[in-house]
Amino acid sequence: MSRLPVDRVLAEITEREVVDLTAALVRIPSVFRSGDPDSNERAVALSVEAWLRRQGFTVEVQEVAPGRPNVIGWIDGAEPGHTLCLEGHTDVVTEGDPAAWRHPPWSGVVEDGRLYGRGSADMKGGLAAAMVAAAAVRRAGVRLSGRLMVAALVDEEDAMLGAKHFVTTALGRAVSAAIICEPEQNELCLEQKGVFWARVTVHGRMAHGAMPYAAVNPITAAGQFLSRIPQLERRVRRGVRRSRSLGVPHVTPTITMAPVGHVAQNNVIPAAAELRLDVRLTPGLEPGHVLGAIEDLARDTERRCPGTRIAVEPVEAPRPATRVERGEAIVRALAWAVRRASGRTPVFGGVPGSTDGTILRTALGIPIVTFGPGDRLIPHQVDECVPVTQLVEAARCYALAAMRFLSRG
Ligand SMILES: [Zn+2]
Repeated sequence: MSRLPVDRVLAEITEREVVDLTAALVRIPSVFRSGDPDSNERAVALSVEAWLRRQGFTVEVQEVAPGRPNVIGWIDGAEPGHTLCLEGHTDVVTEGDPAAWRHPPWSGVVEDGRLYGRGSADMKGGLAAAMVAAAAVRRAGVRLSGRLMVAALVDEEDAMLGAKHFVTTALGRAVSAAIICEPEQNELCLEQKGVFWARVTVHGRMAHGAMPYAAVNPITAAGQFLSRIPQLERRVRRGVRRSRSLGVPHVTPTITMAPVGHVAQNNVIPAAAELRLDVRLTPGLEPGHVLGAIEDLARDTERRCPGTRIAVEPVEAPRPATRVERGEAIVRALAWAVRRASGRTPVFGGVPGSTDGTILRTALGIPIVTFGPGDRLIPHQVDECVPVTQLVEAARCYALAAMRFLSRG
């Protein structure tokens, strides 16, 4: 009785295995807290490593920082070919106040078809689905050309150190395409927003509050600057095509601070004020263009507020927006897999934030698709959860997409 490879692979994926693995990963807290040697990705990464080895994967562990290992597992096909990477991250954000959760944040409890816990959607569910999918392809004995890889990286929620390290390694550089398993309610996301954080420091002159005529008040200048953010935003949007999935770019002030570097007092006009802008880029908008527009507003504000000096600088290297075309082989393979595995028409979407995929796309130049289980809005919330049906569907889609992508001659 010989069954088709597709059926053999799908038969290897059970709800029980995907749910149990997700719950096991959720039950290992992996919030990174700087300065606490026990609060990092190590324990969950070791558990991913052990699982992959048991399933017959070759595994490489890359120590990115103390207690923070990337875990890369792979299987090689009979013939050489492309390398497909199913990518996830092992860190999760803080649980906040555990008492605010209806189920304890590290419980992995299933209730009414949803698995609860911090990281269930973002993104131990997606990672578990990828692990089971790759293992299913191996267990089914499907003939592959090339390499199927699962990458569980650290530090996605902060500086993306894991992805930045991965792209410099031999394993990372050999990747031909990637599926980023982030929670996007199993939509095929071909665009990701980019981000540019700017620090705007307004320098004035410190003086007594009773004698404002002796000061150059940086706070009022900062207010002038802030009041013209809507014009800045309009200017930034000019000439950028509206993205169907991501809309338009946004320029959002997120931090205002004064004084800077000394104690706040009622009767002291401070020497400086600081603003932070969180600029979200859509495809076609370059960070350099945004920086130029902010600089222009700074010069204009200096003219309106004589005596001030305004410095603008990026807080860290900007992450550009990314876009991948529908005609890419990995996109076609995944769209085919969605139809075949779920019977539904693929839905295309966009990622509102940036992910490890941004690093893979920009550093390696490879096509990426972001696709994974979990409601797009649920990450970082209290009562984070992932629908079990989406978990299983994601595993089935990853497995068939891998088969398809790695079956080309
Ligand atoms: Zn994530």
